[in-house]
Amino acid sequence: MIHSLRGFRDLLPSDSTLFTRIEAAAREIFSLYGYREIRIPTIEPHELFVKSTGDTTDIVEKEMYAFTDQGGRHVALRPEGTPGVVRAYIELNLDQTGKNGKYYYIGNMFRAERPQAGRFREFEQIGAEHIGNPSPFADAETVAMLVKILEKAGVPGCSVELNSLGCADCRAAYRPILLGYLKTHVDALCEPCQKRLDQNPLRALDCKIDGPRLAVEAPALKLCPACADHFDRTQELLKLSGVDFKVNKNLVRGLDYYTRTVFEVKAGQLGSQDAVAGGGRYDDLVKSMGGPNAPATGWALGVDRVAMLIKDASRTDTAPQLFVVSASDDARLAAFKLLGELRAAGLSADFSNFELSLKSQLRSADRSGAAIALILGGDEIKNSSCAVKPLKEKAQQRTVPMAELLPELKKLFYA
Ligand SMILES: [Zn+2]
Ligand SMILES: [Zn+2]
Repeated sequence: MIHSLRGFRDLLPSDSTLFTRIEAAAREIFSLYGYREIRIPTIEPHELFVKSTGDTTDIVEKEMYAFTDQGGRHVALRPEGTPGVVRAYIELNLDQTGKNGKYYYIGNMFRAERPQAGRFREFEQIGAEHIGNPSPFADAETVAMLVKILEKAGVPGCSVELNSLGCADCRAAYRPILLGYLKTHVDALCEPCQKRLDQNPLRALDCKIDGPRLAVEAPALKLCPACADHFDRTQELLKLSGVDFKVNKNLVRGLDYYTRTVFEVKAGQLGSQDAVAGGGRYDDLVKSMGGPNAPATGWALGVDRVAMLIKDASRTDTAPQLFVVSASDDARLAAFKLLGELRAAGLSADFSNFELSLKSQLRSADRSGAAIALILGGDEIKNSSCAVKPLKEKAQQRTVPMAELLPELKKLFYA
């Protein structure tokens, strides 16, 4: 027997139905907001993530699924979607040919972190990127759209947290202030934070160990007037969009490319730490990757986490509505034809094996979870009728003329 790799799993129908439902909700909302789908490669040059996600981030330092391929190229399975979308935007000149700069993606991401409960090395993200729009209207629209998608997917109790990380100028002014503080309190920092202190002191604010304490004790970032104005207007527009949010000055996000607005959506049931989605503005990334000056904003949503949240809240019923059974040899063809007619009428229908005994087929019908078994035998064929047997309630089996069968079933299941 061959086992799946550690940290990888199979999604069985009870879960994959949820994934499909979340994806469908997202696609529907995306189209209302003028977003169109982009499909990016699963494997990219390793360098892409080092340069965009950032070489001092946890993702790149510890969690990359990177290897050398047969051609001797250093490649990586994508740990997130934004770098690939940005690469495509630059490489394919989408600033000139790409219409409104709004893209969404749905796909699997990979992180080689140590497997732990509920975390997998392959997971699905839905993401949105709005490239080329510097205004707070884009920030507000993207957050409002994210909330709409989560609502549509049936996520209960979402709350949005918002912060501004300022622009490159704000941060250049803040860096020495924070670095000065951290250097005088260096012994209190965890080892990784001590190591990257000079390289990227801001990462300490996002550290799971040091972050919460620093948020209270360390000097806070002061926004420049332009960034303060952007943040104020974003909040105003979110209120106008009917989005509930609160400002969380401790919200940093673990990626290097964020500027100005960052946000996370948390859902009550997962506990305070777990965000189901997050994102923010990345005004300098496209340019720093060799592209045009194209300020941008975006987010990604963890489909696995959302699926976990809606699993309890919803019925994950994947059973067919109907189960067709052939009671005699001469009814097999008619039974097979009936299956086709049911499905053409939009009713889900299944069967086991028309060549098995009636008893065996009825056992499969019970196990399928279908509401009703439709049984065809010699008598039914002769009389142009069908036996209708409720499987879930103690009602009598009855015979329905074939001509009335579909209308009756439609009334039953479409109501
Ligand atoms: Zn600024
Ligand atoms: Zn730390």
